[in-house]
Amino acid sequence: MVRVHSAGLCATDLDLHLGNIGRAPSECDYLVIGHENLGIVEHAPRGAKVQAGDLVVSTLRRACGEYCRPCLTGEQDMCVTGKFEERGIAGLHGFLSEAYAEDTFYLVKVPSALIETATLAEPLSILEKGIDHAMRIQSRFSWEPKKALVMGAGPVGMLGAAALRMRGYEVIVASLEAEGGRKEKLLAEVGIRYLCIHTTSIADATRGANAQDIVIDASGSETAVPSAIEALAPGGICILASVTRGSRPITLDIATVNRNIVLGNRVILGTVKAGRRHFEMAVRDLETIETRRPGWLANLVTRRLPYDQALTAMTRAPEEIKTVLHFA
Ligand SMILES: [Zn+2]
Ligand SMILES: [Zn+2]
Repeated sequence: MVRVHSAGLCATDLDLHLGNIGRAPSECDYLVIGHENLGIVEHAPRGAKVQAGDLVVSTLRRACGEYCRPCLTGEQDMCVTGKFEERGIAGLHGFLSEAYAEDTFYLVKVPSALIETATLAEPLSILEKGIDHAMRIQSRFSWEPKKALVMGAGPVGMLGAAALRMRGYEVIVASLEAEGGRKEKLLAEVGIRYLCIHTTSIADATRGANAQDIVIDASGSETAVPSAIEALAPGGICILASVTRGSRPITLDIATVNRNIVLGNRVILGTVKAGRRHFEMAVRDLETIETRRPGWLANLVTRRLPYDQALTAMTRAPEEIKTVLHFA
């Protein structure tokens, strides 16, 4: 049994709130939303790896009922049937409630120094999975990555960029917002360059020696995808992490795109949700960021509201980065 401490909100929650996506548990006519969670264990079985008083985040995805190989081996984030369930999104209640019950297998321990910021573990875990998989794929040759580009300056993009910077890469975040804003200032504090794509195109910024070893698309926009792929250096890897909605055809010179991928041994990788290992990586990286830049993560949370103001929280302000609801 876990007492919820706080929960972050994102565009997925807004979509769920509007009824555009989501599925209630089969026995219910409503769905409790909330997936960016942080709680304090109230009771746990004797001998379990988490105990009363521990700060924990819960993973989201649960096995499909079809016993597919990844689900059977604890890799629900790689489910191949698509019939999995996800807390707060599909078939299982989420964390916008005072308490929840969960198998301790799905709970990841969090150090107490992260009590105000560990709701960021879930959004970061998505890119931790992308980075983890990219590194595994890239062990195919003696790769020496130096430069990384992240498309999109939402919380996921900013957190992923910070995680890459902590690994020592030169990192650029590219987005639509004008230069000189709050996000550019926050990124500069951790040594990340911000690029407004209205001022400088991705193609200009990534030509020749400026081509990128790792490119992550977390922009949410399909128009960013061709630029993300074209920005890759030979042997580089592009991690696509945006769940784009709808269908909008664009014209693409696929012969050139394909030739560049083939001749440069480049990789394009898709990633969604995260497994336990990636939540653990996210918690470790949050801890490193907090140690190296105390207070930086807390600045990403631009609005904190008590849980009974959840409806207010569903309206986003223009300069907002992340809203967190507090239950305790
Ligand atoms: Zn989210
Ligand atoms: Zn499965």
